[in-house]
Amino acid sequence: MLQLLHSLPKRLVLTPKPLRVLKASQWRSFNAAAVRSSTAAPPVTPIEKLIVEHVKARASYPWNCAVGPMSYATYMQFCLSHPTEGYYMKSANNIFGAQGDFITSPDISQIFGEMIAIWLLSQWEAAGCPLNIRLVELGPGKGTLITDILRVPITNKASQAVTIQVHLVETSLALRAIQSQRLSGAPASVQWHDSVDHINPSNDSYTMLVAHEFFDALPIHVFRKTEEGWREVMVSSRTSTSENENIEQYPRLQHVLSPEKTAISTIFGNSSSRFQSLPIGSDLEVSPTSFRLARKVGELLAQKNMDTSPSLGGCGLIIDYGWDHAFGNSRRGFKNHEVVDIFHRPGECDLTANVDFAYLKESIQDLVPVYGPMTQNLFLSQMGLMIRLERLLQSNQGDQAKRNRIIEGVKRLINPATMGKEYSVMGISTNEGPIHPFHLAHTSHV
Ligand code: SAH
Repeated sequence: MLQLLHSLPKRLVLTPKPLRVLKASQWRSFNAAAVRSSTAAPPVTPIEKLIVEHVKARASYPWNCAVGPMSYATYMQFCLSHPTEGYYMKSANNIFGAQGDFITSPDISQIFGEMIAIWLLSQWEAAGCPLNIRLVELGPGKGTLITDILRVPITNKASQAVTIQVHLVETSLALRAIQSQRLSGAPASVQWHDSVDHINPSNDSYTMLVAHEFFDALPIHVFRKTEEGWREVMVSSRTSTSENENIEQYPRLQHVLSPEKTAISTIFGNSSSRFQSLPIGSDLEVSPTSFRLARKVGELLAQKNMDTSPSLGGCGLIIDYGWDHAFGNSRRGFKNHEVVDIFHRPGECDLTANVDFAYLKESIQDLVPVYGPMTQNLFLSQMGLMIRLERLLQSNQGDQAKRNRIIEGVKRLINPATMGKEYSVMGISTNEGPIHPFHLAHTSHV
């Protein structure tokens, strides 16, 4: 089992830990086993210092006081996106690749991006090959996927010149710098945006969008269903001011359960009929940010009437961990290709959670048709991965070491025991269905 987990680039379902349920009207600290900081606990990170001070559980504070436990969504947001100390914001963090904390599909094999490009272009062709293309990527990381997509040649029957505008939605200035370098010779103009909100539907360009491992990085709230309704699982410090502060406990943070319902737990715990039917005792991870941004994606791609003429519409692929249902305990941290506690070295580890694709569908499907999800294995195989592999091997006849690397990469992407099944692909398209290969999708997956 351990070996299997280590072979995964970025995934593990953690065993849920028992939660401290707080007494009504008070947050109280959890009296966990203490460790001497000088021997066992790593130094406090800047984000951790900020959070521990903020969430210090003080016995005298009411549970809904401004200083006290914070939602897991706020914790995740701080750790990943704090303007100077967030994990994705700091150029000092070595995030991607074999030498970094995790490796993603585009960096495992160029064939991944090529298959994505072929799907997007097949939709563009079916839409009549509009001459202006907008290629949008949400969370481009190092820029490998967009570079691979742009390398696939675009041909149209009329042989007319096609113009491509690239729009990258990226909040990290450190990563924007890497993307800019990577795209310096790209056959397209490139613009960066802080949010997908800043890109409008277009009546003269066909929009092709891709989001790979973007939604799993967005903040989630965690709720628990009780006899009295939804409660929120929040983040608190383990050291109370009333305890001996010379004794340090590690991790310095812990989960606590709100003693009463919060506005957020009531609104979002009931935001899908699927959540309402969960049994008492269930934990639920919900990302309102994902719902909102998925809706923006739907609005961007939808073929609706604009002021003067109809928008040209478009297509998109969302690829991520997760499946067509909600998860309760999928949140996890990553450091040096290993799964770590979500409270370990805040701001220096990646934090992630499985994506509830059904929630994304619920957000988009009244605006534009949504297809899938289907497993990455089936999607890539049906898009012609093996044919492309053969061609690539042929063009590297003389270099056996490179051929082996290419084969290993492809095996890893489609391995049904790991990435091939754990990653899911969802399609969005304004073209009329059936849409290849989503007509082959089946929902019997775990
Ligand atoms: N797609 C890339 C990178 C995935 S990591 C790959 O597969 O390799 C997540 C990416 O999303 C990073 O580039 C991160 O900076 C970006 N990101 C995270 N939250 C974001 C947000 N709210 N808005 C825009 N970009 C965000």
